[in-house]
Amino acid sequence: MKACARAGPQRVGLSLAEVLRAALAGQPPALSPHHRKILNTLLACQTPQLGGHRYRCEYCGREHFVPRSCGNRHCPNCQWHQAMEWLQRQEQLLLPIPYFHVVFTLPHALNPIIRQNRTVMYNLLFWAASQTLLEFGRNDLSTLSETQAFQAEVRKATSKSWNVYAKRPFAGPKQVLQYLSRYTHRVAITHRRLIQLNPAEGTIEFNYKKRRDQAPPVHQRMELELPEFLRRFCLHILPERFVKIRHYGLLANRGRQERVAQARGMLTGNVRPTGNEPERQLPDNATAKAEAGEAPRLLCPYCGRIGLVLVETVKGAARAPPNRESRAQ
Ligand SMILES: [Zn+2]
Ligand SMILES: [Zn+2]
Repeated sequence: MKACARAGPQRVGLSLAEVLRAALAGQPPALSPHHRKILNTLLACQTPQLGGHRYRCEYCGREHFVPRSCGNRHCPNCQWHQAMEWLQRQEQLLLPIPYFHVVFTLPHALNPIIRQNRTVMYNLLFWAASQTLLEFGRNDLSTLSETQAFQAEVRKATSKSWNVYAKRPFAGPKQVLQYLSRYTHRVAITHRRLIQLNPAEGTIEFNYKKRRDQAPPVHQRMELELPEFLRRFCLHILPERFVKIRHYGLLANRGRQERVAQARGMLTGNVRPTGNEPERQLPDNATAKAEAGEAPRLLCPYCGRIGLVLVETVKGAARAPPNRESRAQ
Protein backbone atom coordinates (compact mmCIF):
# COMPACT_ATOMS: atom_id res chain seq x y z
CA MET A 1 0.00 0.00 0.00
CA LYS A 2 1.44 3.37 -0.92
CA ALA A 3 0.62 6.87 0.10
CA CYS A 4 -0.50 9.05 -2.74
CA ALA A 5 2.21 11.64 -3.36
CA ARG A 6 -0.03 14.05 -5.15
CA ALA A 7 -2.40 16.55 -3.69
CA GLY A 8 -3.65 18.06 -6.92
CA PRO A 9 -7.22 18.35 -8.13
CA GLN A 10 -9.29 15.19 -8.20
CA ARG A 11 -9.69 13.38 -11.53
CA VAL A 12 -12.97 14.09 -13.31
CA GLY A 13 -14.84 11.72 -15.61
CA LEU A 14 -15.79 8.09 -15.41
CA SER A 15 -13.53 5.87 -13.30
CA LEU A 16 -12.90 2.15 -13.50
CA ALA A 17 -14.09 1.79 -9.89
CA GLU A 18 -17.51 3.20 -10.83
CA VAL A 19 -17.84 0.68 -13.66
CA LEU A 20 -16.69 -2.25 -11.50
CA ARG A 21 -19.07 -1.21 -8.70
CA ALA A 22 -22.01 -1.12 -11.15
CA ALA A 23 -21.02 -4.48 -12.61
CA LEU A 24 -20.76 -6.12 -9.20
CA ALA A 25 -24.11 -4.65 -8.12
CA GLY A 26 -25.88 -6.34 -11.05
CA GLN A 27 -25.55 -9.98 -11.94
CA PRO A 28 -21.77 -10.51 -12.09
CA PRO A 29 -20.27 -13.68 -13.54
CA ALA A 30 -18.94 -16.28 -11.08
CA LEU A 31 -15.72 -14.84 -9.60
CA SER A 32 -12.87 -16.68 -7.91
CA PRO A 33 -11.87 -15.51 -4.38
CA HIS A 34 -8.62 -14.12 -5.89
CA HIS A 35 -10.48 -12.08 -8.52
CA ARG A 36 -12.97 -10.80 -5.93
CA LYS A 37 -10.09 -9.77 -3.64
CA ILE A 38 -8.37 -7.84 -6.44
CA LEU A 39 -11.63 -6.14 -7.46
CA ASN A 40 -12.31 -5.08 -3.84
CA THR A 41 -8.78 -3.67 -3.63
CA LEU A 42 -9.33 -1.60 -6.78
CA LEU A 43 -12.67 -0.37 -5.42
CA ALA A 44 -11.02 0.75 -2.18
CA CYS A 45 -8.17 2.64 -3.89
CA GLN A 46 -8.10 6.35 -2.96
CA THR A 47 -11.19 6.07 -0.77
CA PRO A 48 -11.43 6.60 3.02
CA GLN A 49 -11.49 2.78 3.32
CA LEU A 50 -7.68 2.74 2.99
CA GLY A 51 -7.13 5.82 5.17
CA GLY A 52 -4.89 8.64 4.09
CA HIS A 53 -3.11 11.82 5.10
CA ARG A 54 -4.61 15.09 6.32
CA TYR A 55 -2.65 18.21 5.40
CA ARG A 56 -3.01 21.86 6.39
CA CYS A 57 -1.87 24.69 4.16
CA GLU A 58 0.50 27.05 5.95
CA TYR A 59 -0.57 29.89 3.67
CA CYS A 60 -4.40 29.74 3.46
CA GLY A 61 -4.97 27.52 6.52
CA ARG A 62 -7.35 25.15 4.73
CA GLU A 63 -7.18 21.40 5.19
CA HIS A 64 -6.86 18.83 2.45
CA PHE A 65 -7.27 15.05 2.71
CA VAL A 66 -5.18 12.81 0.45
CA PRO A 67 -6.51 9.23 0.44
CA ARG A 68 -4.10 6.31 0.21
CA SER A 69 -3.69 4.44 -3.06
CA CYS A 70 -3.87 0.65 -3.19
CA GLY A 71 -0.60 0.17 -5.10
CA ASN A 72 -2.05 -2.91 -6.80
CA ARG A 73 -0.52 -3.85 -10.15
CA HIS A 74 -3.96 -4.03 -11.80
CA CYS A 75 -4.98 -0.55 -10.67
CA PRO A 76 -5.05 2.28 -13.24
CA ASN A 77 -4.58 4.87 -10.44
CA CYS A 78 -1.33 3.38 -9.20
CA GLN A 79 0.71 2.10 -12.11
CA TRP A 80 2.24 5.29 -13.49
CA HIS A 81 4.15 5.95 -10.29
CA GLN A 82 5.39 2.37 -10.03
CA ALA A 83 6.47 2.35 -13.68
CA MET A 84 8.58 5.49 -13.11
CA GLU A 85 10.26 3.96 -10.04
CA TRP A 86 10.96 0.71 -11.91
CA LEU A 87 12.46 2.66 -14.82
CA GLN A 88 14.81 4.59 -12.52
CA ARG A 89 16.02 1.37 -10.86
CA GLN A 90 16.68 -0.32 -14.22
CA GLU A 91 18.49 2.69 -15.71
CA GLN A 92 21.00 2.53 -12.86
CA LEU A 93 21.87 -1.05 -13.83
CA LEU A 94 22.71 -0.29 -17.47
CA LEU A 95 26.25 -1.17 -18.56
CA PRO A 96 28.30 0.63 -21.24
CA ILE A 97 27.71 -2.11 -23.81
CA PRO A 98 25.44 -2.57 -26.86
CA TYR A 99 22.02 -3.97 -25.98
CA PHE A 100 19.52 -6.01 -27.96
CA HIS A 101 15.78 -5.97 -27.45
CA VAL A 102 14.54 -9.57 -27.62
CA VAL A 103 10.85 -10.51 -27.53
CA PHE A 104 9.54 -14.06 -27.14
CA THR A 105 5.87 -14.54 -27.99
CA LEU A 106 3.51 -17.48 -28.05
CA PRO A 107 1.26 -18.28 -31.03
CA HIS A 108 -2.42 -17.30 -30.64
CA ALA A 109 -3.39 -20.92 -31.26
CA LEU A 110 -2.22 -21.65 -27.71
CA ASN A 111 -4.62 -19.12 -26.14
CA PRO A 112 -7.28 -21.66 -25.06
CA ILE A 113 -4.61 -23.77 -23.30
CA ILE A 114 -3.00 -20.70 -21.72
CA ARG A 115 -6.33 -19.37 -20.35
CA GLN A 116 -6.89 -22.56 -18.39
CA ASN A 117 -3.28 -23.13 -17.30
CA ARG A 118 -1.93 -19.63 -16.92
CA THR A 119 0.63 -20.14 -14.16
CA VAL A 120 2.13 -23.25 -15.78
CA MET A 121 2.23 -21.77 -19.27
CA TYR A 122 3.64 -18.39 -18.18
CA ASN A 123 6.30 -20.15 -16.10
CA LEU A 124 7.22 -22.33 -19.09
CA LEU A 125 7.55 -19.24 -21.29
CA PHE A 126 9.83 -17.53 -18.75
CA TRP A 127 11.88 -20.70 -18.35
CA ALA A 128 12.29 -21.32 -22.11
CA ALA A 129 13.14 -17.67 -22.84
CA SER A 130 15.63 -17.33 -19.96
CA GLN A 131 17.36 -20.64 -20.70
CA THR A 132 17.67 -19.76 -24.39
CA LEU A 133 19.30 -16.42 -23.61
CA LEU A 134 21.56 -17.82 -20.88
CA GLU A 135 22.74 -20.62 -23.15
CA PHE A 136 23.33 -18.11 -25.92
CA GLY A 137 25.45 -16.10 -23.49
CA ARG A 138 27.38 -19.11 -22.19
CA ASN A 139 28.54 -20.18 -25.67
CA ASP A 140 32.08 -19.37 -26.70
CA LEU A 141 31.76 -15.68 -27.41
CA SER A 142 35.20 -15.04 -28.72
CA THR A 143 34.02 -14.83 -32.33
CA LEU A 144 30.76 -13.18 -31.34
CA SER A 145 32.62 -10.24 -29.82
CA GLU A 146 33.11 -9.08 -33.42
CA THR A 147 30.08 -7.08 -34.46
CA GLN A 148 29.70 -8.70 -37.87
CA ALA A 149 29.95 -12.24 -36.52
CA PHE A 150 27.43 -11.44 -33.79
CA GLN A 151 24.98 -9.86 -36.21
CA ALA A 152 25.32 -12.84 -38.54
CA GLU A 153 24.35 -15.11 -35.64
CA VAL A 154 21.39 -12.90 -34.75
CA ARG A 155 20.27 -12.83 -38.41
CA LYS A 156 20.52 -16.62 -38.57
CA ALA A 157 18.56 -17.04 -35.35
CA THR A 158 15.86 -14.53 -36.27
CA SER A 159 15.38 -15.78 -39.84
CA LYS A 160 13.48 -18.76 -38.44
CA SER A 161 9.83 -18.29 -37.47
CA TRP A 162 10.37 -18.87 -33.74
CA ASN A 163 8.10 -16.07 -32.60
CA VAL A 164 11.22 -14.39 -31.28
CA TYR A 165 12.04 -10.80 -32.16
CA ALA A 166 15.55 -9.46 -31.66
CA LYS A 167 16.69 -6.00 -32.64
CA ARG A 168 19.38 -3.58 -31.61
CA PRO A 169 17.55 -0.53 -30.22
CA PHE A 170 17.93 2.40 -32.57
CA ALA A 171 17.99 5.02 -29.80
CA GLY A 172 19.82 2.99 -27.16
CA PRO A 173 18.82 0.85 -24.16
CA LYS A 174 17.18 3.68 -22.21
CA GLN A 175 14.53 4.00 -24.89
CA VAL A 176 13.80 0.26 -24.62
CA LEU A 177 13.58 0.54 -20.83
CA GLN A 178 11.05 3.37 -21.19
CA TYR A 179 9.00 1.17 -23.51
CA LEU A 180 9.31 -1.77 -21.09
CA SER A 181 8.31 0.34 -18.08
CA ARG A 182 5.08 1.27 -19.89
CA TYR A 183 4.51 -2.23 -21.24
CA THR A 184 5.15 -4.15 -18.02
CA HIS A 185 3.08 -1.77 -15.89
CA ARG A 186 0.11 -1.61 -18.22
CA VAL A 187 -3.33 -2.28 -16.76
CA ALA A 188 -6.34 -3.86 -18.47
CA ILE A 189 -8.05 -0.53 -19.14
CA THR A 190 -7.28 3.05 -18.17
CA HIS A 191 -9.87 5.56 -16.98
CA ARG A 192 -9.61 7.71 -20.09
CA ARG A 193 -10.73 4.86 -22.35
CA LEU A 194 -14.05 4.62 -20.49
CA ILE A 195 -16.69 6.66 -22.31
CA GLN A 196 -20.10 6.11 -20.77
CA LEU A 197 -21.75 3.92 -18.16
CA ASN A 198 -25.42 3.18 -18.92
CA PRO A 199 -26.92 1.84 -15.68
CA ALA A 200 -30.46 1.50 -17.14
CA GLU A 201 -29.24 -0.78 -19.94
CA GLY A 202 -26.52 -2.31 -17.79
CA THR A 203 -23.81 -1.51 -20.37
CA ILE A 204 -20.50 0.30 -20.61
CA GLU A 205 -19.02 2.02 -23.66
CA PHE A 206 -15.27 2.35 -24.06
CA ASN A 207 -12.52 2.95 -26.62
CA TYR A 208 -10.15 0.27 -27.76
CA LYS A 209 -7.39 -0.04 -30.32
CA LYS A 210 -8.17 -2.33 -33.21
CA ARG A 211 -5.00 -3.89 -34.55
CA ARG A 212 -4.72 -4.95 -38.16
CA ASP A 213 -1.88 -6.98 -39.61
CA GLN A 214 0.64 -4.47 -40.93
CA ALA A 215 -1.43 -1.28 -40.57
CA PRO A 216 -1.28 1.09 -37.59
CA PRO A 217 -3.99 0.42 -34.96
CA VAL A 218 -7.24 2.39 -35.19
CA HIS A 219 -9.35 3.62 -32.25
CA GLN A 220 -12.84 2.16 -32.11
CA ARG A 221 -15.78 2.31 -29.69
CA MET A 222 -17.29 -0.79 -28.12
CA GLU A 223 -20.35 -1.31 -25.92
CA LEU A 224 -20.50 -4.33 -23.63
CA GLU A 225 -22.95 -5.61 -21.04
CA LEU A 226 -21.46 -5.14 -17.57
CA PRO A 227 -21.12 -8.87 -16.70
CA GLU A 228 -19.19 -9.41 -19.96
CA PHE A 229 -16.99 -6.36 -19.23
CA LEU A 230 -16.24 -7.78 -15.78
CA ARG A 231 -15.47 -11.22 -17.23
CA ARG A 232 -13.02 -9.75 -19.75
CA PHE A 233 -11.46 -7.51 -17.10
CA CYS A 234 -10.83 -10.57 -14.90
CA LEU A 235 -9.00 -12.29 -17.79
CA HIS A 236 -6.27 -9.66 -17.26
CA ILE A 237 -5.85 -10.39 -13.55
CA LEU A 238 -2.65 -12.34 -13.05
CA PRO A 239 -2.57 -15.53 -10.98
CA GLU A 240 -2.10 -14.93 -7.25
CA ARG A 241 1.52 -14.12 -6.31
CA PHE A 242 2.57 -14.48 -9.92
CA VAL A 243 5.89 -12.76 -10.61
CA LYS A 244 5.53 -11.03 -13.95
CA ILE A 245 8.93 -9.28 -14.12
CA ARG A 246 11.84 -11.67 -13.67
CA HIS A 247 15.59 -11.14 -13.79
CA TYR A 248 18.13 -13.77 -14.83
CA GLY A 249 21.87 -14.12 -15.28
CA LEU A 250 23.80 -10.94 -14.49
CA LEU A 251 20.61 -9.24 -13.33
CA ALA A 252 19.30 -12.12 -11.17
CA ASN A 253 18.21 -10.70 -7.83
CA ARG A 254 20.73 -12.18 -5.38
CA GLY A 255 24.06 -10.36 -5.65
CA ARG A 256 22.90 -8.22 -8.58
CA GLN A 257 24.46 -4.95 -7.39
CA GLU A 258 27.85 -6.58 -6.88
CA ARG A 259 27.83 -8.35 -10.26
CA VAL A 260 26.78 -5.21 -12.12
CA ALA A 261 29.43 -3.13 -10.34
CA GLN A 262 32.07 -5.73 -11.18
CA ALA A 263 30.99 -5.91 -14.83
CA ARG A 264 30.99 -2.13 -15.09
CA GLY A 265 34.46 -2.04 -13.54
CA MET A 266 35.79 -4.63 -16.01
CA LEU A 267 34.28 -2.77 -18.96
CA THR A 268 35.73 0.56 -17.93
CA GLY A 269 39.07 -0.83 -16.69
CA ASN A 270 38.29 0.14 -13.10
CA VAL A 271 38.13 -3.39 -11.69
CA ARG A 272 36.93 -3.74 -8.14
CA PRO A 273 38.02 -6.72 -6.02
CA THR A 274 35.33 -9.38 -5.68
CA GLY A 275 34.13 -9.99 -2.18
CA ASN A 276 31.10 -11.06 -0.29
CA GLU A 277 29.88 -7.58 0.30
CA PRO A 278 26.24 -7.44 1.29
CA GLU A 279 23.93 -6.48 -1.54
CA ARG A 280 22.80 -2.88 -1.45
CA GLN A 281 19.28 -2.34 -2.70
CA LEU A 282 18.76 0.77 -4.75
CA PRO A 283 16.40 3.03 -2.84
CA ASP A 284 13.17 4.04 -4.44
CA ASN A 285 12.33 7.72 -4.77
CA ALA A 286 10.45 8.02 -1.49
CA THR A 287 13.17 6.21 0.49
CA ALA A 288 15.94 8.31 -1.05
CA LYS A 289 14.08 11.51 -0.17
CA ALA A 290 13.39 10.29 3.38
CA GLU A 291 17.09 9.37 3.82
CA ALA A 292 18.12 12.80 2.60
CA GLY A 293 15.76 14.36 5.16
CA GLU A 294 13.77 15.91 2.37
CA ALA A 295 10.14 16.53 3.29
CA PRO A 296 7.61 16.01 0.50
CA ARG A 297 6.50 19.34 -0.89
CA LEU A 298 2.86 19.34 -1.87
CA LEU A 299 0.79 21.89 -3.67
CA CYS A 300 -2.30 23.33 -1.95
CA PRO A 301 -5.30 22.65 -4.24
CA TYR A 302 -7.08 25.74 -2.86
CA CYS A 303 -4.49 28.55 -3.02
CA GLY A 304 -2.03 26.90 -5.42
CA ARG A 305 1.05 27.45 -3.23
CA ILE A 306 3.48 24.75 -2.06
CA GLY A 307 2.58 24.85 1.59
CA LEU A 308 0.83 21.66 2.66
CA VAL A 309 2.04 20.34 6.03
CA LEU A 310 1.11 16.86 7.25
CA VAL A 311 -1.06 17.07 10.37
CA GLU A 312 -2.50 13.56 10.66
CA THR A 313 -2.14 10.08 9.21
CA VAL A 314 -5.56 8.39 9.15
CA LYS A 315 -5.62 4.60 9.32
CA GLY A 316 -8.01 2.82 7.00
CA ALA A 317 -10.44 0.02 7.81
CA ALA A 318 -9.25 -2.12 4.88
CA ARG A 319 -5.83 -3.36 3.87
CA ALA A 320 -4.66 -3.97 0.33
CA PRO A 321 -3.00 -7.34 -0.38
CA PRO A 322 0.78 -7.26 -0.96
CA ASN A 323 1.78 -6.44 -4.51
CA ARG A 324 4.58 -8.86 -5.41
CA GLU A 325 5.65 -8.79 -9.00
CA SER A 326 9.32 -8.21 -9.62
CA ARG A 327 11.22 -9.80 -6.79
CA ALA A 328 12.00 -13.32 -8.02
CA GLN A 329 14.96 -14.29 -10.16
ZN1 LIG B 1 -4.80 1.86 -6.75
ZN1 LIG C 1 -3.46 26.97 0.57
